[in-house]
Amino acid sequence: MNAPCVRVARERGETTRERLADAGLLDGDRRIEVEDGRIYVPVVDPDAVPSELPVVDRATGERDRQTTPADLLDEEPTYERLGDVVVIDEDDPSRAREVADAVVDSDVPCQAVVDRASKVQGEYRVREWTLLAGEETETVHREYGHEFLVDPTTVYFSPRLATERHRVIEQVQPDERLLDMFAGVGPFAVPAASRDAEVVAVDANPAAVPFLRENARRNAVADRVTAVEADVRTLADGDGGYRGWADRLIANLPHSADEFLDTAVALAGDDCVLHYYDIQHEDDPFGPGERAIRAAAGDEYDVSVETEHVVRSYAPHELNVCLDVRLTRREPAQGELSDPGE
Ligand code: SAM
Repeated sequence: MNAPCVRVARERGETTRERLADAGLLDGDRRIEVEDGRIYVPVVDPDAVPSELPVVDRATGERDRQTTPADLLDEEPTYERLGDVVVIDEDDPSRAREVADAVVDSDVPCQAVVDRASKVQGEYRVREWTLLAGEETETVHREYGHEFLVDPTTVYFSPRLATERHRVIEQVQPDERLLDMFAGVGPFAVPAASRDAEVVAVDANPAAVPFLRENARRNAVADRVTAVEADVRTLADGDGGYRGWADRLIANLPHSADEFLDTAVALAGDDCVLHYYDIQHEDDPFGPGERAIRAAAGDEYDVSVETEHVVRSYAPHELNVCLDVRLTRREPAQGELSDPGE
């Protein structure tokens, strides 16, 4: 049967599918088809599709109807998927059990169900979890064409930041030197290396770095990713080796990024873009970060804010934001170069 389909190049398939799903335009009853490097995504309302996405009439098969957790419960449960690990966030243990059972009995691919038992916490930003089904929590998560081996019980990873990571990665240029100060399992570092950047990826969590190395290997960029298990501050020490090295810095430790701004400035090259993540009150989400960056840059760098970007709402009245900031080393003022003794 013919149906209206958005037609895009295959590599744009997942982004487009997500965009159409977010807009409620995906036709879930019909199959997505691939042919000659193009992907055809069936849509329910072709007139509502954004004009830059071409819509064509095309034969598509019917999708097999799968059983969802919502079919087995009275309502739609909230869950997210990290690879084949299903993540829920329920305060009431009996409700958590009910949702976990529905997930397991549904057709959702699932090797384990875990419930959030704490906020992200500690230096390594890892939550506590309650394991409700399955045993194995290490899984492979796919994001924008890359795959990441990850275990949420030992390392930080948030699938919700996929779009934000993609926004930053799209700015990465071939051959630039990128230093990811808080790299986790590599969801910035690995795709950046796929764009031919030379990447140094640092994390203090000893559990994260083997995942990071494995993820560089399985995405065929191990030759362009140097994974370092360290407190990032040591890279800017006198003999740390990376002072003045970076063309681009990613500082994704939003609760305490300001504590690492002196390190960021020390790692920055003459012309460096810093992606600085922060969590601030909605009344002034960017001001504190910008002031802290200017203070750390001092007289050494000119600071220009290129983008102020809201990543997501973090808590009531609190926003997770990113400042994309260019640091340009100042020319020494007249006289600063000459030896006063001359
Ligand atoms: N960028 C990754 C991502 O998007 O999944 C991970 C971000 S997570 C919020 C912050 C990471 O910083 C954690 O993996 C944690 O172990 C690491 N970290 C915390 N303090 C650090 C330090 N002083 N030096 C290096 N890494 C650190």
